[in-house]
Amino acid sequence: MKKEYDVIIIGGGPAGLTAGLYSARDRLSSLLIEKGIIGGKITEAERVDNYPGFPEGISGLELTRLMHEQTTKYSLESIFAEVTSIEIDGGQKVVKTTDGDFVARAVIVAGGSERVKLGIPGEKEFTGKGVSYCATCDGPFFTDKPVAVIGGGNAAIYEALHLTKFASKVTVLHRRDQLRAFVIVQEKAFAEPKIEFLLNTVIEAIEGKDFIQKLKLRQVITGEESFLEVAGVFMAVGLKPNTEYLADILPLDEQGRIIVDAGMQTKIQGIFAAGDIRSGSIRQAIAAAGDGATAAMSTKKFIDGEQVFTPPSVEV
Ligand code: NAP
Repeated sequence: MKKEYDVIIIGGGPAGLTAGLYSARDRLSSLLIEKGIIGGKITEAERVDNYPGFPEGISGLELTRLMHEQTTKYSLESIFAEVTSIEIDGGQKVVKTTDGDFVARAVIVAGGSERVKLGIPGEKEFTGKGVSYCATCDGPFFTDKPVAVIGGGNAAIYEALHLTKFASKVTVLHRRDQLRAFVIVQEKAFAEPKIEFLLNTVIEAIEGKDFIQKLKLRQVITGEESFLEVAGVFMAVGLKPNTEYLADILPLDEQGRIIVDAGMQTKIQGIFAAGDIRSGSIRQAIAAAGDGATAAMSTKKFIDGEQVFTPPSVEV
């Protein structure tokens, strides 16, 4: 058993970093556990234009680097490990990780989400050989080559815009006739000559030899099948919350997100959730940061033995 903390924060994205900032400033002994990269998924965003305070926009990496730098002015500890379960031991929470067990009086779960996989033939086989889930990471590999992006949400359209810097042509494949992305983002994409849209179209298989060569497509209205030659395909069909290890102890909604009340308190007293991982989240960095602040203030109240729930609260 390792050192005991007042608060353990799981996840180092905007929600977790903000929770860590607030907890450390409250002089609570606080540990942040991150399994991947400090900053979380938003580090993949080349430019964030809707985080207040940055009128010229800011890269996701720089935004979260600044958030992290701010936490280091206080006594937030952080480690890299993957959390495998949380157990309740009397008034303590035992957080089990790939780097051993840690104990705290309260836990804030801010583990975010990861990209959904389509599960089509060829997807697994060609991952890293043309199939990618991150245009910011892999875009330069496709310089002067044609690529496709799957999805019609913000992630897909931002990725398509980013890929125009490298690829010879970017085809966005979307299953409906209307995009889901913010209108201002759609407008940018419609004005970009390198981007072409194939609407009402789904991808049925990814084919190739050592690397991807073509995608098998189906037009959903006519049923017509066709092939599109590409060197890469970027999957952006949504996010799934990182809650698999929590399903046995916390009530989750139908999408697997953690159910919380207005103070970010879960069903279990002393376990809070914040950011994309909680039910009802609008999955924006600014909202995640707000959740992190709320969760940390609720945690402080819990540790001080005060009433946590912020009326009016929903039944959890
Ligand atoms: P999303 O908004 O859920 O969009 C997923 C897209 O994939 C939708 O267009 C959806 O089609 C399509 N899709 C889902 N399952 C599919 C399937 N089986 N086959 C084909 N297409 C499928 O997910 P996201 O774009 O990853 O974004 C996640 C969240 O992060 C959102 O809340 C988004 O606003 C946010 N985000 C924000 C920013 C930003 O503000 N800068 C950037 C990126 C993401 P339908 O439209 O038909 O459902």
